[in-house]
This record gives sequence, structure tokens and C-alpha cells, in this order.
Amino acid sequence: NKPEIGSVTRTKAIMETYGLTFKKSLGQNFLTDLNVLKNIVAAAQISADDDVLEIGPGIGALTEQLAKNAHQVLAVELDQRLLPVLKETLADYDNVQVIHGDILQVQLAEVLAEHFDGQHPVKIVANLPYYITTPIVLHLLAEQASFSSITVMMQKEVAQRLTAQPGTKDYGSLTVGVTYATETEIAFTVPKTVFIPSPKVDSAIVVMKKRTELQQKPQNEKNFRKLIRGSFMHKRKSLWNNLLALYGKEPEIKTRLEQALETAEIAPGIRAERLSVADFIRLSDSLENEAL
Ligand code: SAM
Repeated sequence: NKPEIGSVTRTKAIMETYGLTFKKSLGQNFLTDLNVLKNIVAAAQISADDDVLEIGPGIGALTEQLAKNAHQVLAVELDQRLLPVLKETLADYDNVQVIHGDILQVQLAEVLAEHFDGQHPVKIVANLPYYITTPIVLHLLAEQASFSSITVMMQKEVAQRLTAQPGTKDYGSLTVGVTYATETEIAFTVPKTVFIPSPKVDSAIVVMKKRTELQQKPQNEKNFRKLIRGSFMHKRKSLWNNLLALYGKEPEIKTRLEQALETAEIAPGIRAERLSVADFIRLSDSLENEAL
């Protein structure tokens, strides 16, 4: 009876058996606290009815806990060295598939269709590699794949940005982009001491539930996302100056921008951090009507 993969003893034994070293460049901080691992599975509300996509299984600590609770688990790992390791550590679970790949390059809808039967809700769960937290979250949300939630461990600072309120310093394009598509909350925070090796920062588990019925939807989602990014490009500048940088400074463009702001009832001198998701949607639609 082996201890579970996420225990400190087993993690150290696996690292030693395979002569593995931690790759800092791949954000390899392995979680070695079974309570935290089980709490992640609970926060994601994984049941035997769910299929789970895991990003970065490492040596399989979280994967094992997911396999015990889910219908099927598909894990995508970039570090080729870990594939033979995972084959052995997860050998007892017949509901786990591991594929080699970079999550940022994965065509989500295709991969899910290929590995899952489409009869079970798909949930994404991960202890993310911190060097690419934001790109991963944005990639997952940009892909039109059918999954119901994302439950991920990330650095606490990023978690605070995702859940920030308008007008606070953490509020930015990431907040608006994520709030628009999901209902997001911090489930719990985790000290750096539960990882080997310890990262420099504390962490938090964030649960993002996809909004199924977007009550307010911009006419053009691609342009909406462009507007959000551009509005926060220079955070200390006014919305007006950011819009000029984004759309152009020609007099004719200026007139259309002024008109769009007036229609949306937004003062040009305001800063983007004061605008709610609803404000951005209104502005995006007014810009669309001005053919911007
Ligand atoms: N799931 C394990 C755990 O909880 O202990 C490992 C988590 S570790 C923070 C992040 C994992 O993501 C590492 O195994 C790393 O090799 C992997 N990884 C890094 N970049 C990746 C990428 N672009 N695509 C897929 N996996 C990646």
C-alpha cells in the first residue's frame, strides 16, 4: 500500500527513483499536501459524472485525486521527461489519459472531442505553471470549447486581479475579460510552504464558472476584447487618450469616437479602471455603430 502521490514521502521517493530535478523554467512547484489537493477537487465539485482536463500533471499528485473522483481525466504535460513517470505513478487508474503538449498550443475543442465522449460535463482543473498563468486563462476563455468551469491554483496576486472591483488598483483588462465570461471567486488561499520547491509567492485557488446565458453580450466579441485591452494599455492615461492610441487620431475618427462615447454616456476623461463590464459592453456597441 503506497502512500498517495501528493504526500511528501512519495513525492521525494518518485523524484529520487527517476533521478528527476525540478525545472524552474517550466514552473515546476509540486504540491505536497493531500488536504490541499483534496480541497481543490472539492472546490471544483468533481463527481463521477464529470470529465476533467488537467493542465500540467507533474508527477500526478492532483491527477490521482481527480481520477478517484471523476469519470475520465485527460492531462496535458509539456515536460517530456514526466510522461514515462506518469505512466507508472498513475498505472492503477484506468480512467486517466496523459498527452504530451503545450496547453497554449492545444486546440481545446478538438482535443476534448477526441478524448472525451461528450456525454459528461467537462471541468478544467490545474495547479498552473505560474510563468504563464495569464496567457493560459485567456487562452482557455478565448477558445470556444464547451467546458463548464475552471478551477486553478495561481499566485495570490493574479487571483486578486481576477476578482478585483472597479476603481481598485488590481482592476484591469484581465478582470474585465474574465468577469465578462465567468463568475469568478477565490475559494481559498494556500501558503508557499506546501510546495516542493517553495515558490516565492503565496497562492490561491480560483473557481471560474462559465456564464451560460450572457445577459449582456457585445455585438462583436472580438472588437470588445480589443477595446478592453486597448483601454487599459496605459493605465495612468484617460480613456480618451487610450482610445486615440487604439483607433487613430485623425479628426474624422475623433468625431466618431466622441459620438460613440456620448451614446454610451461615458465621459472621455474617465480612466478605464472606473468602468464596469456593462459600461464596456455599451461602449463597444456604440463604437461598432460608428464602424470603429
Ligand atoms: N500538477 C502538479 C502538482 O500539482 O504538483 C504539478 C504542477 S506544476 C506547478 C506545473 C506543471 O505544468 C509542471 O508539471 C510543468 O511541467 C507543466 N507545464 C509547464 N508549462 C506547461 C505548458 N505550456 N503546457 C502544459 N504543461 C505545462
